[in-house]
Amino acid sequence: MATAEFIILIGLLGLAVGSFLNVCIDRLPKGLSIVALPSHCERCQHRLKPLDLVPVLSYLWLMGRCRYCKVAIPWRIPLGEAVTGLLFAYVAFRYEVTLETVVVLGFVGVLIVVFFIDLEHSLILDRVMYPAVAAALLLVPVGPLGQGQDALHAYIDAFLGIAIGGGTLAMIYFGALRMLGQDAFGWGDVKLGVFLGSILGVTQTLVALPLSFISGGLLGLTLLILKVRGRKDAIPFGPFLAVAGLVSLFWGQTIFNWYQGIFPD
Ligand SMILES: [Zn+2]
Repeated sequence: MATAEFIILIGLLGLAVGSFLNVCIDRLPKGLSIVALPSHCERCQHRLKPLDLVPVLSYLWLMGRCRYCKVAIPWRIPLGEAVTGLLFAYVAFRYEVTLETVVVLGFVGVLIVVFFIDLEHSLILDRVMYPAVAAALLLVPVGPLGQGQDALHAYIDAFLGIAIGGGTLAMIYFGALRMLGQDAFGWGDVKLGVFLGSILGVTQTLVALPLSFISGGLLGLTLLILKVRGRKDAIPFGPFLAVAGLVSLFWGQTIFNWYQGIFPD
C-alpha cells in the first residue's frame, strides 16, 4: 500500500526532477551538457542561487521574472515542474512501493522531455531516444510488462509492441512519402513509436496509436478551422504520441476492455 507520506515524498521528488528535466529540455537541443554548467539566466547570464531554483514557488514569488534582469521566465519552467510532480505522485499512488514504480517514473521522465522538446523545436533527439529504448529493453522484466508474466513472455510482448508501434508509424511515414511526396511526420516519431512499443507491449500500443492519431487529427483540424495554423504549417506529432503513450500506460488496459465490451468478438 502506498501511504500518503510516500505519495507526497515522490511528488516532491518529482518537482525537483522536473527542474532537472527543464534543464534537459533547454540544453539537449542545443547540444549543451546537462550537468557541466550551473543554472543561469538565459539573458543576463547571472548564476541562479538556490532561492531562485525552488520548483514552482520561485516562479510565483518572482512573478515570472528573472530576479536580476527582470526578463520573463518561460511558463514552461513552472509547468514542467508541476506536471512532473503531479505525474510522479500519481505513479507512486498507482504502482505503490515497488521496483516497477522506479521504472515507470523513468518512462514518465523520458516522455516529458520528448513532449516539450518536440513541442518547442519540432525535434525528437537521437540522444534521448537511443538511450531510452536501450534502458526500456533492459528493464522489461522488472517494468510493467514483467508483471504477471515471465521474462520471456514479457520480451515477446515488448518486441511485438515495437513491431506494431514502430512498424505502423514507419509504414505511414514511407506511405506518405511515396503517395503524397511529403512527410506525415518525422522519422523521430517512428523512433518514439519504437520506445512506446517497448514499454507498452501489444495491447497498450494498440490503444496508444489510435489515441495519438485521433487527438492529433482533431487538434490539427481545429487549428486549421480557427486559422491558427495554415495548411502548410506542420504540427509536431511527438507530443500527441507522448501523451497517448502515457494515457495508455496508465489506463490502456481499461480502455481496451471497455472497447471489447462494446464490440464483443
Ligand atoms: Zn536575468
